[in-house]
Amino acid sequence: SRRFFVGGNFKMNGSCDSLKAIVENLNNADLDPQTEVVVAPPTLYICNVRDHIKSGGKANLAVAAQNCYSASSGAYTGEISAQQLKDVEVNWAIIGHSERRTLFGDTDDLIAKKVEACLAEKIKVIFCVGETLEQREAGKTLEVVEKQLAAVGEKVKDWSDIVVAYEPVWAIGTGKVATADQAQEVHKAIREWLGKNLSSQTAEATRIIYGGSVTAANCKDIGSRPDVDGFLVGGASLKPEFVQIVNANK
Ligand code: 13P
Repeated sequence: SRRFFVGGNFKMNGSCDSLKAIVENLNNADLDPQTEVVVAPPTLYICNVRDHIKSGGKANLAVAAQNCYSASSGAYTGEISAQQLKDVEVNWAIIGHSERRTLFGDTDDLIAKKVEACLAEKIKVIFCVGETLEQREAGKTLEVVEKQLAAVGEKVKDWSDIVVAYEPVWAIGTGKVATADQAQEVHKAIREWLGKNLSSQTAEATRIIYGGSVTAANCKDIGSRPDVDGFLVGGASLKPEFVQIVNANK
């Protein structure tokens, strides 16, 4: 069975002090040991957060990058590589977040290259997919999500180090959470896509997590659905209620 997975995406939030306090809160919390927990601070603070986790963190708590470039080194001002993440013992990266896609021009093709680069360095990937409101209203949700999956599927056949995050764009930072039925429907379709295009073993083993306005109040309902294997949390991951989200299945 799939291990429950909860990621905290801090986005461009936090300071030395506030991130230290957030990690200390997690270090001292009663986190469900069955759940795998990953937090993604801004790149600038990755090593600080890594060190705070090391000094008293739980075995099931790790740090992630929010992005990673596809090349391993060179003249790419402002970017970081999978090789560098490996160097500082960061073993996870979020790739393809909708904010990267819409604000920073990450295309399906670039995202696939980034995923490939991470996996080559044994960096595990939280790979994000999801439709806009306009696409959902046009009945194109599954088409959009399948196209995003296919771009990575073309380059990567072994998905054992990938967690898929379904994040409907209309639910991100809006307070408009998907209903448990809406999440389950798309998660099931993603699992079917994995089965059809990769293998039944991949479909069975891959964690598919939901993101978009997840809170302590709505996590238990969504998390109880059969194809929902955890969450990718934005705003609420900066707050003490993140602990309740981690423990949604407890
Ligand atoms: P919110 O939880 O703030 O809606 O953000 C979700 C998200 O984008 C996580 O990656």
